[in-house]
Amino acid sequence: MVTTAKIGVIGPKRIQAASSEVVRDINRRIVLNLIRTRHPISRADLARLCGLQRSTISLIVEQLIEEHWVVEGPMGRLPRGRRPTFLRLNEDRVIIGVDIRPTQTTVAVADANGKFASREVMATAADPKTGVADMIRCIQRAMASCRGKKIEGIGISVPGRFDHRSDRLVFAPNLKWREFDIRSPIMKATGLEVELENAANACVLAAVWFDHMDQARNLVVVTVSEGIGTGFLVNGQLVRGLNGMAGEFGHVPLDPKGPVCGCGSRGCWEVFASNRAALRYYLEAGAGAGDLTFPDLLRLADQGDARAGRAIEKMAQYLGRGMRMVVAGLAPERIVVVGDLTRAWHRFGPVIEAEVQAQVLPGGCAPRLVPASEDGGDARLRGTVALVLQKDFGMYV
Ligand SMILES: [Zn+2]
Repeated sequence: MVTTAKIGVIGPKRIQAASSEVVRDINRRIVLNLIRTRHPISRADLARLCGLQRSTISLIVEQLIEEHWVVEGPMGRLPRGRRPTFLRLNEDRVIIGVDIRPTQTTVAVADANGKFASREVMATAADPKTGVADMIRCIQRAMASCRGKKIEGIGISVPGRFDHRSDRLVFAPNLKWREFDIRSPIMKATGLEVELENAANACVLAAVWFDHMDQARNLVVVTVSEGIGTGFLVNGQLVRGLNGMAGEFGHVPLDPKGPVCGCGSRGCWEVFASNRAALRYYLEAGAGAGDLTFPDLLRLADQGDARAGRAIEKMAQYLGRGMRMVVAGLAPERIVVVGDLTRAWHRFGPVIEAEVQAQVLPGGCAPRLVPASEDGGDARLRGTVALVLQKDFGMYV
């Protein structure tokens, strides 16, 4: 007897057309994003770009002006006829961005365009309780500097994975603040909304929001510093996975007999390809001293130190080898590399590219490898700005 699979039928009761409020909300977000990315822009250009009636655009714009998201001015110039009034985002709506790194924490104030007005850097405390108390004092100083402006919220980038369901930092091998609630004490002390995100995911948001990569549907960011983080956009969506743990390619072992990693395992990708790995290669070659920093190493290579050059080349080779996993797993169109190494891209870029190209699967194609336009700190901070704003602008998370 042949049985047929039962296929669910969507009856009229299960179909619900989008309500006019939903349509209005979507149009509002489209207009807000167009003003964000194309400002200064006139109402007529907005209508042309989104294919809506001028009257609909005028209504949406009036609402955005009333909500203080958008301001008018300056006047445009046309050869003849009425002079249009340009629209732009209100610079008096600000966001406080916090970038926690294993050794230092930065607190900055930015406007909705991702432009920073101020920033303060402090050492990151070894225990989370002290670290959060230090951060709160710094955030309160930043808040005091924003008198007369509306603070949208606080965005925090963490060097680890944050579980949005339990509100806990669940994996931060280089920070060692495990299972700690960072969010509640900051919300309580400031009265502001607080959003947390993994540092690599924050860089994905920064690339999409501020670096005009919003056309890329499949994008990977690889952050290289004390460790290696990856964040990715798949089919236009930021991927977090179960417990927020997606993207830990840095802790996939390349050699089970390799050096011990901060996560407790051995031979992870990051022990071979992080900034610390390059410093270790240099010391193992009998050069340098223990207090050498990664920027020092880049400088030495530029001054003609052959051992520094070889240490950097080895790090670059391992970066490329590890990226093969990323390419095979996610087939991105583009890989954005963030970190101090982008300053020496003439050394890193060709080696990484050759390693990735060497093993592209049949049918696959190598992604475009791009160094980030700004250093890692700025990328993470701008990502925290996007993290706060995406609630109103409605994209990607
Ligand atoms: Zn590891």
